[in-house]
Amino acid sequence: MSDGRAERIAEFVEPLRVEPGSRVDLERDFDPRYKSGMKKREGVELLRIGVSLLAEYQTRLAAQDTYGVVLCLQALDAGGKDGTIRHVMSGVNPQGVRVSSFKVPSAEELDHDYLWRYAQRLPARGEIAIFNRSHYEEVLVVRVHPEFLLRQHLPEHGPGRGVGDDIWDRRYREINRWERHLTDNGFKVVKVFLNLSKEEQRIRFLKRIDLPEKNWKFSAADVRERSRWDDYQKAFSEMLSATSTRWAPWYVVPADRKWFARICAAAVLAHTLMEIDPQYPDVPPEVRKDLLVAKRGLEQEAPAGAPSDPYAARHPSSEQAGPHGGKKRGKRKKRRKHG
Ligand code: AMP
Ligand code: MG
Repeated sequence: MSDGRAERIAEFVEPLRVEPGSRVDLERDFDPRYKSGMKKREGVELLRIGVSLLAEYQTRLAAQDTYGVVLCLQALDAGGKDGTIRHVMSGVNPQGVRVSSFKVPSAEELDHDYLWRYAQRLPARGEIAIFNRSHYEEVLVVRVHPEFLLRQHLPEHGPGRGVGDDIWDRRYREINRWERHLTDNGFKVVKVFLNLSKEEQRIRFLKRIDLPEKNWKFSAADVRERSRWDDYQKAFSEMLSATSTRWAPWYVVPADRKWFARICAAAVLAHTLMEIDPQYPDVPPEVRKDLLVAKRGLEQEAPAGAPSDPYAARHPSSEQAGPHGGKKRGKRKKRRKHG
């Protein structure tokens, strides 16, 4: 990409990335209030650019039909997952995106291996899947509440048989290998953790209680989970340390300011798409020849007095546009401006 947007976005997301192999202590290493010196007004403009970039790259991803992307969003309650999804997806074509939310597993889901239900919701090539919660719940809520593990019918962890400590290391390894398999086969896994402070969660919970139209978002269970705050911080820290890999790194997004979190999430997704750099497929010369034959036929059908090809008449450069037709016009124009 020649206009520097890719470099700017790469620079912006770099401080959020968890270095593979590093040992993370969430509270020590990541500040939920960090905003890289940005003012909200600048942020809104940047989010607009980010969202328009997403739309452009999503179209190319679909046209190329080779890669798929799965964006995993993790956070504590009131971390802002729903709002982030709403904003990030505001500019994209809904046909190419699928959002899946993962809740307490059903009996059918518990009757399969723990990755099964997530595998069911993976994207096809050309698609973006968004996971609102993800397979990482299997090393987070399930770790903090081992009773969930006991319900999973595991051979070595049946009722009364307890939970071996090695299970979490094993799950990290299995998850890393699964993500490696997906990546090698064309499916990029992007992982965003919305990092909320305890005080900001308190404020958001109170707002959900104070505003009747927000009551539905709050449940007593949320306060119970909050009382396990330190256990969750530890589970998050270990998860980030063990599963930020070269092929699927974690990004820790400061979540105390919603507007900044949304920019970061959009930037991380845009960065991933730019790294894939999907291209419109090349049309082979023989197919192009067929297109030109069809074009002549359509031109001959022009009513008396009408231009034979109204589009080409309005866009004189498109007729020589080569294998990609008019699709790259925008880019070409821009290059001329800079050159
Ligand atoms: P919400 O996202 O507020 O609708 O809540 C969904 C609930 O499902 C959360 O409390 C999660 O912790 C819980 N949940 C998600 N995945 C799992 C899982 N694999 N095992 C147990 N609970 C889960
Ligand atoms: Mg909830």
